Amino acid sequence: MTKTELEQAEQDPDLIALSRQFKATAMELISVLEQKQKTVSRTKVLLDTVPVYRLADIFVASFEISFEEQLSMLDSVDLKVRLSKATELVDRHLQSILVAEKITQKVEGQLSKSQKEFLLRQQMRAIKEELGDNDDDEDDVVALERKMQNAGMPANIWKHAQRELRRLRKMQPQQPGYSSSRAYLELLADLPWQKVSEERELDLRAAKESLDWDHYGLTKVKQRIIEYLAVRKLKPDARGPVLCFVGPPGVGKTSLASSIAKALNRKFIRISLGGVKDEADIRGHRRTYIGSMPGRLIDGLKRVSVSNPVMLLDEIDKTGSDVRGDPASALLEVLDPEQNKTFNDHYLNVPFDLSKVIFVATANRMQPIPPPLLDRMEVIELPGYTPEEKLKIAMKHLIPRVLEQHGLSSAYLQIPEAMVKLIIERYTREAGVRNLERNLAALARAAAVKVAEQANTLRLGKEIQPITTTLLDSRLADGGEVEMEVIPMGHDISNTYENPSPMIVDEAMLEKVLGPPRFDDREAADRVASPGVSVGLVWTSFGGEVQFVEATAMVGKGDLHLTGQLGDVIKESAQLALTWVRARAADLNLSPTSDINLLESRDIHIHFPAGAVPKDGPSAGVTLVTSLVSLFSNRKVRADTAMTGEMTLRGLVLPVGGVKDKVLAAHRYGIKRVILPERNLKDLTEVPSPILSGMEILLVKRIEEVLDHAFEDGCPLRLRSKL
Ligand code: ADP
Repeated sequence: MTKTELEQAEQDPDLIALSRQFKATAMELISVLEQKQKTVSRTKVLLDTVPVYRLADIFVASFEISFEEQLSMLDSVDLKVRLSKATELVDRHLQSILVAEKITQKVEGQLSKSQKEFLLRQQMRAIKEELGDNDDDEDDVVALERKMQNAGMPANIWKHAQRELRRLRKMQPQQPGYSSSRAYLELLADLPWQKVSEERELDLRAAKESLDWDHYGLTKVKQRIIEYLAVRKLKPDARGPVLCFVGPPGVGKTSLASSIAKALNRKFIRISLGGVKDEADIRGHRRTYIGSMPGRLIDGLKRVSVSNPVMLLDEIDKTGSDVRGDPASALLEVLDPEQNKTFNDHYLNVPFDLSKVIFVATANRMQPIPPPLLDRMEVIELPGYTPEEKLKIAMKHLIPRVLEQHGLSSAYLQIPEAMVKLIIERYTREAGVRNLERNLAALARAAAVKVAEQANTLRLGKEIQPITTTLLDSRLADGGEVEMEVIPMGHDISNTYENPSPMIVDEAMLEKVLGPPRFDDREAADRVASPGVSVGLVWTSFGGEVQFVEATAMVGKGDLHLTGQLGDVIKESAQLALTWVRARAADLNLSPTSDINLLESRDIHIHFPAGAVPKDGPSAGVTLVTSLVSLFSNRKVRADTAMTGEMTLRGLVLPVGGVKDKVLAAHRYGIKRVILPERNLKDLTEVPSPILSGMEILLVKRIEEVLDHAFEDGCPLRLRSKL
């Protein structure tokens, strides 16, 4: 620029305005930069001294700008254009610095917040340490890791566990997934991946002795258990069958299983499957569910904390299936030696080896167990006990145990054999011995009260007085409902107090403690005292039972009414029985001629007491016919005779199940004669011979024979017999 040009330019108001604006922007930029670098102050001096037309060039040269921008800068010769371009560039630079600064400030704010938290946490830890409070989360996780390391997990599962642990470490304890993740890791650490109970050399003789010591009778069952143990001894890893004890409650299924565990020196765990309807109960819920848990098997293993326990799958017949899956199919996998090596629990989500577990199952009945499951098991049936067996069990096993549980001994309480017999006859009517045990426990409790009361008197320093029985008497006055559970007495009274003479249970005490007798032999006779009642034998999950059938007639339109919670099969049996009786009415002497309708203007009502218990099955057929014939002929059925059998429309008697239990039930009721289908003859071999010898078993092929045996003077048909 020439001097004149310069002078002119300096006069130009536009240029003056532009240069002022440029200087202001540049100044702003400098002041922003100044906060970061001190060196900028020299640029400030520049701004004041260098002439305006050079300023723009110097400034722009010091920026990082694109090549195009540099070119366009060079391209602008006119001072005004150059200045305005330079102002724009400076401004852009300024803005970008300002924005960057804003962002940094924000980030810094956040950082400092987490730093603050960290600091506070450190302080908190220091305070806790100072207070001796060691339940610190961090330490907990370390402890958990140590536990996991000691659990002996297989390598692949250890890796999986490590991954989960790393996730846990990244979480804050307050975070939602923290506790579930932790619970999962705790389970992994608690599971017995390697831990086993040491199996000592199996002594078969000792095992047999121990079985005999704990259980009276059951010879066949014990023999089978010994065989099972012998095979295990010869081949410890043998894939033996899964034993399944089937029988009514209280016959010793659970206690036999625990004896097996004892003989093998393994831990014992009982898993109750009664009422399990959901597959997840066996296999667990996936961890995505809220409140998910492992299945009962894995949970059981965690509790028992060895991988080779004897595991009792109790009440395997009581599992059901519904929309939530079928537990039986999960059990199939569990019991299959090929598959249970890698049992997959949904919650655990890694395979667990169940092959070392010895499974034993129990069931009340075989029929509800799904056939594929039954196929994997070897069924050992435990029939109910005869009264004589119960007596022996009570004398040898139950009484000593009950006395011990109540802190007593025979020096305090003696229960003579005759009294135990009375309890069995009058107070219990069951296949097993559970109620018997409860009744004995009730006697022991009463005795404990006396002994304790007496000890009180002694302690008061008085002379020995006649035993005060106030507590006992007040308890007996209310009619004596027998309480159900055994509550062990904490300490042994017999050690504490001296007792000169033992208390001997007599009939009076029985009645005082247990109340009036609940059952007697007269029951059947009383109930069949009128025509229309007959005595049947049925089979329930509690073993055999005596089932009365009552029929009555009234004015009506020929309808049949049925009550007593009956299933479809039994209802059909009733229809069938009525049809048969009506068809043979004339032959049976129930109506004078065959063209007279038996139901003419009357209704028939058949009832099965007890009305609250559901009943079903075809085996009441013969009982129903007998009851109807008795009703129509107005003759009483023999009270000492019970019967069972399915019938066909033509009057044939078909065989039924559960014969052994039914005969035992009849025996319990004091029934002397039992009518059975002829084809059930083979089942009689299972009935203990002392029972059979005291009973008359009448085998029949046709319903007419049943009637012949059921009535005192034979079948009414005989009178006009075509037979
Ligand atoms: P379950 O499992 O069949 O319902 P438990 O095994 O619980 O029956 O037996 C009930 C009680 O009866 C237990 O105290 C058991 O010891 C006792 N018991 C059953 N059978 C016998 C027996 N044969 N000898 C000795 N005690 C027995």
